[in-house]
Amino acid sequence: MAMHSRRDLLRWAAALPLAPFAGRRRAPAHVVVVGAGIAGLGAARALADAGIQVTVIEARNRLGGRILTDRSLGFPIDLGAAWIHGIENNPVADLALKAKLPTFVTDYGSFAIYDSGKPLSNDVATEVDAAFAALWEDVLRAKEAAQTRDTLEPAFLAAVKNTGFEGARKRALEATIASAVETEAGANLSALGLAAFDEDVAFEGDDWLLPQGYAAIVDGLAQGITVRLNEPVKSIAYDDKGVAVTTGTSLIRADKVVVTIPLGVLKKGGVTFIPTLPEATRKAIQQLNMGILNKVAMIYDQRFWPEETHSFLQAKENRSEVIEFFNFDGVVGRPVLVALLGGKLGRELESIGPKAVQDLVTNELRAMFGTSVTTPKRFVGTRWLGDPWSRGSYSLVPPGATMEAYDALSVPVADRVYLAGEHTHRKHPSTVHGALLSGRRAAAQVLGKGDEEF
Ligand SMILES: Cc1cc2nc3c(=O)[nH]c(=O)nc-3n(C[C@H](O)[C@H](O)[C@H](O)COP(=O)(O)OP(=O)(O)OC[C@H]3O[C@@H](n4cnc5c(N)ncnc54)[C@H](O)[C@@H]3O)c2cc1C
Repeated sequence: MAMHSRRDLLRWAAALPLAPFAGRRRAPAHVVVVGAGIAGLGAARALADAGIQVTVIEARNRLGGRILTDRSLGFPIDLGAAWIHGIENNPVADLALKAKLPTFVTDYGSFAIYDSGKPLSNDVATEVDAAFAALWEDVLRAKEAAQTRDTLEPAFLAAVKNTGFEGARKRALEATIASAVETEAGANLSALGLAAFDEDVAFEGDDWLLPQGYAAIVDGLAQGITVRLNEPVKSIAYDDKGVAVTTGTSLIRADKVVVTIPLGVLKKGGVTFIPTLPEATRKAIQQLNMGILNKVAMIYDQRFWPEETHSFLQAKENRSEVIEFFNFDGVVGRPVLVALLGGKLGRELESIGPKAVQDLVTNELRAMFGTSVTTPKRFVGTRWLGDPWSRGSYSLVPPGATMEAYDALSVPVADRVYLAGEHTHRKHPSTVHGALLSGRRAAAQVLGKGDEEF
């Protein structure tokens, strides 16, 4: 087919008589799913299993979206999602078990904070842990009186002050906050809303890594599903007869469309909806933000860090400079570290070259392990913010927004357009399981089954 300008295609989509549509009460004959991440493939799988014709349209040249198993270092390593968080009742854990994938349990008790080249003594580490648990409760109490516009920062600063900690203890506490809140959310405290603090629901049980890579989960879901790769969707037109999905080269008509385009892409207007989405949907897209978490995976000639420690970081005066390292030696059977850089640091990482990235992580490691630290043999890093098909790592609730925004994004539009993706799941946002459940919810909505169980 000849190439058309974006304008032509939009006009064409808007003017086209849409496919005759099977009536509301009948199951749709054909559903397009936009995006082949876990939400899209979860939706497609459920629809295909219900006997519906499904076409998945994906902008990238691969499946998985923010599930990205890299093999450039010579072994699989996950540069997007890596953990199945909480394996009890977790639908992603079920998929891993069904596929008989090997798993590795991360022991968060095996976490070390270094200060001045040494790990904290057990006594100090225990004191810091206890102070962090108390601080969390303080922040939850502050939340009870929170206004939507309040950020997390003053509540955390007050709670840190309450501990009376100074020197090494205070630095260690700041580093713990950096790891548990800022790296986790992909944003600094001032960019996070107090009213939404700790509102997501976690599954119980261990956290699993998948030594063969998360991609196996995605590949399993995609079996037998028609996926068109390298086809960025430009516009989605919908009316009472059906939908028309326009890519750079073609137009696909269907009865309904499940749209799993990431929040960051929606915020940038990456796809045009004709007519525009309802105001409540647009407002929610505008209100929520994307956090940034980037990774650098490094392989060394030899391990210079303790074999048994699963993760470690260097205590800092300045929380936003903390880099957390995970020891993947036991996961991939090689001397491998994965550095996590969130928020401001994660953003800065995207504007520096490979040599500066190597220097940044090497200097950080030298502050902990001294001259035994070598430069990595090879390393690979991410730029999730600059990635045109994600525009950030995962959603967060900034000051001024509420958790209701997630609910607003899960409401079907005109019984034609069903949004799914991690940014549409209020209970489990920002996770693989939340994204998968949102895809299954969208499939249930398409099939007229309601969405309660999700
Ligand atoms: C660094 C990092 C670490 C993470 N760690 C974890 C973790 O350990 N555990 C966990 O549970 N979660 C983790 N997450 C979050 C998790 O990866 C996501 O919540 C989840 O994968 C999102 O799935 P999704 O289907 O909603 O979106 P995506 O996976 O982003 O899928 C959306 C798809 O839409 C495609 N797309 C975008 N625009 C278009 C277009 N115009 N046309 C067609 N296709 C388009 C994209 O290419 C993509 O494939 C992490 C994320 C990152 C970035």
